Amino acid sequence: MKFVSYWHDTSVPFDNAVAGPVSGEFEVAVIGAGFTGLNAARQLAKSGLKVALLEAEHVGYGASGRNGGHLNSGHFASFGAIKARFGDAQARRLWQAYDDSIDMIEAIIDEEKIDCGFRRGGKLKLASKPSHVKKLQAMCDEIRREVDPTVEWLSREDVRKELGSDAFHGAVLSPKSAMMHMGHYAIGMAQAAHRHGATIWEHNPVIARERVPNGWRLTTPTGSLVARQVILATDAYTTETFGYFRRRMMSVASFIIVTRPLTPEEVAATMPGNRNYTNSLNIANYFRLTPDNRVLFGGRARFSSASNQSTDVSSGQLLRKQMVDVFPQLADVEIDYCWGGLVGCTQDRYPRAGTADGVIYGMGYSGHGAQVSTLIGSVLADIAMGRKDTNPLDGMAWRAVPMHTGKPWFLPIVGAYYRMKDMLP
Ligand SMILES: Cc1cc2nc3c(=O)[nH]c(=O)nc-3n(C[C@H](O)[C@H](O)[C@H](O)COP(=O)(O)OP(=O)(O)OC[C@H]3O[C@@H](n4cnc5c(N)ncnc54)[C@H](O)[C@@H]3O)c2cc1C
Repeated sequence: MKFVSYWHDTSVPFDNAVAGPVSGEFEVAVIGAGFTGLNAARQLAKSGLKVALLEAEHVGYGASGRNGGHLNSGHFASFGAIKARFGDAQARRLWQAYDDSIDMIEAIIDEEKIDCGFRRGGKLKLASKPSHVKKLQAMCDEIRREVDPTVEWLSREDVRKELGSDAFHGAVLSPKSAMMHMGHYAIGMAQAAHRHGATIWEHNPVIARERVPNGWRLTTPTGSLVARQVILATDAYTTETFGYFRRRMMSVASFIIVTRPLTPEEVAATMPGNRNYTNSLNIANYFRLTPDNRVLFGGRARFSSASNQSTDVSSGQLLRKQMVDVFPQLADVEIDYCWGGLVGCTQDRYPRAGTADGVIYGMGYSGHGAQVSTLIGSVLADIAMGRKDTNPLDGMAWRAVPMHTGKPWFLPIVGAYYRMKDMLP
């Protein structure tokens, strides 16, 4: 078994990073080469600005290269809950941002000729318990009525045609949701940003910043640069150099296992619908097929703030058990990959983007950012170019999490609470 991300392992590394030390003067410096930072840098460079992109590790190292590969339409919260909190107009704007982000990804892939197997496969949100059916049906009706008439309810029998599993009692189908190879997309975005003129440094974490007359000096272990504006696109991987943001976000680990490629017969018996799937538990699982027909199965598994080899291994064992509970036919199928990554969670699970603490920022996607991070990258580029009206998160207050100093010590308690709720019928 490999303890690396399948997306990392099966994509060609970025080969246009600058080899020398960090130096120079730029109009904008972007920190973090995930989807947020990559699209911000791409768009700014395309608009003719002098842009630097600084990445601590390698392009796509963070959540963008480690996720479940779901580009799901709609929001994690019900439309009614968003409306109750933000009012009708803002709720529609927020909801629409997630749909627009998938359209934007599709358009960029087309424009930049990125070969990443983008496909509108649709997503099923599966009822894990009979008691969840009513709530999901009501949610489906509300979405159809208010924001997306393409969404439909599938009965238990319909779901059985989609999945070789008796574990589910119905599902909400969102046909606009899509999937792609996340590694190929990340590298393609970096190549596009480079082509448009962005200067990209890998293995150069920003370890200090200081105000200078013409902007900010950002220092890395190899050197420093000066930029008039800084975009912070570091999500769950934000370090103490940007402590203002760490205190507003909790980094929670999420884990994934990937099986060996299934035979066509095994695919037909397991996931013939070939869509994105999530279940309705509080500690939810998500799964799909990879382009080479492996089962990718993920979840929070253990509530932890770390992802490293030992947490990944024990979480992988838990995930395997959860996968076999859903698909008993996979009990003897080898697991080829197991890895973890960090999810940047805000207290209310809504992301944030704007300007604060001297930088332009976009983060806190709370595990639902593989799609909207590309759109927020574009929003951050707009802000750097003086345009603020494209930000669907504009004006959302963002307070520090009480008693949170940057390391979420309270996660095991939260995990125990949700596990208990999931054990109830
Ligand atoms: C296991 C897992 C599964 C997920 N599954 C899904 C899914 O199926 N669907 C979905 O919608 N979302 C999913 N997500 C969430 C989604 O992947 C993220 O919301 C999204 O990729 C965030 O992108 P980003 O560019 O903002 O951040 P990231 O991709 O995390 O990039 C941040 C980058 O900043 C760099 N960095 C940090 N500090 C510094 C510094 N000081 N200097 C320089 N560089 C720095 C990091 O190295 C990193 O590469 C998942 C996340 C995880 C971890």
